[in-house]
Amino acid sequence: MVLDAHGAQGGVGATFENGRIVEVGPAKEGECLPGRALAPGFLNDHSHAFQRGLRGAVERFEPSHPRDDFWTWRERMYALAENLTSDSMREVSRRCYEEMLSAGYTSVTEFHYVHHRPDGTPYEDSNVLAKAVARAAEDTGIRLLLLPVAYARGGLPRFRDPSVQAFLQRTDDLRGWSEGRPLVNVGVAAHSVRAVPRGWLEEIGRYAHRDDVSLHIHADEQPREIEKCQTEHGMRPIELLAQTGFLGPDTTVVHATHAGEREVDLLSEYGASVCACPTTEGNLGDGFLPAEEILERDIRLSVGSDSHARIDPFEELREIETNARRVSGRRNVLVAENEASPTPWLLRAGWGRTGLKSGDPADLIEIDLSHPVLADVEAENLPSALVFGAGSGIIAGTWVDGRKVYERGDASG
Ligand SMILES: [Zn+2]
Repeated sequence: MVLDAHGAQGGVGATFENGRIVEVGPAKEGECLPGRALAPGFLNDHSHAFQRGLRGAVERFEPSHPRDDFWTWRERMYALAENLTSDSMREVSRRCYEEMLSAGYTSVTEFHYVHHRPDGTPYEDSNVLAKAVARAAEDTGIRLLLLPVAYARGGLPRFRDPSVQAFLQRTDDLRGWSEGRPLVNVGVAAHSVRAVPRGWLEEIGRYAHRDDVSLHIHADEQPREIEKCQTEHGMRPIELLAQTGFLGPDTTVVHATHAGEREVDLLSEYGASVCACPTTEGNLGDGFLPAEEILERDIRLSVGSDSHARIDPFEELREIETNARRVSGRRNVLVAENEASPTPWLLRAGWGRTGLKSGDPADLIEIDLSHPVLADVEAENLPSALVFGAGSGIIAGTWVDGRKVYERGDASG
């Protein structure tokens, strides 16, 4: 069976060649997968792999900070970042990416900002920590978009580069190094308007648009960040991104939780995308993004597991719609034009495509149709059952680049 954003079809198979799908059609010879449905793998569009180390460890307040929030959480995260080495970075990233593959993610965008020695001086190879992340992805077989992140002020010394030129030189070096690594692609990012001044945004935007590489930034996650931006620049973060030339069709704004109407209009005008991270935004008490406005303007949406409090693409997608329901008091809220259900729009956000088709990378998941979660679900209702009723436990296998990189180890498959 093959499943897409609108339904499922039995007796269908996929043929791969050199890591690509070359045919989706009537199943012929080859490996038969009874009781399984194939579907596109999920894209995890925002990750800080090392933060997986905080899972379960930050769910109580410190007696000195009884009012726990994003900013007190950040102190705990900094303490973890302070102690990373290239070995521990590779190890924590490897475990995190293995978990992603088991949950049905086949590619990950790593927003990587721990660059230097704890005192801020560069390692002999100034990209050694980024390369540790890339090697972790290769160890596991997940596809990686690696984003070296510019950080100019605040945070820890090891996040910061002395100048935007030094940062872009390192980015160039890393891009050169990644050539010939089929699973690794390199883009570029700025941490936030908090951590990067106007001149850096201009330079980084110019660099990314000139070389046509993916460009990401956190924006509008926390009210305090917006207030500071208004004090410094007299405008809101996404307005600043538009004015500095940072926004474009290759730009992804991560969070956009508190984006105002004018800011959402700007995202649409520039053809930029939004990455929502609902399980993290919920965990950190950030808020909920203006999903209806994003849908109405046809802004491209993706999801990310960000701090990895939870790694489950079904839960990310479900939270977007169920939060929209809590806020609006309605059901079936995020329904795209000519659709009757939010499911196709949400699955498109999760997969970055609507189904398997020839020419696409052979990045797929195997869904276990015999799992109790999917018992008695009609084929036509399977896509919605995934979004509204399932979790990562239904993933029986994961393929990246035409190669099986995860197989569930129990006997139930
Ligand atoms: Zn983030």
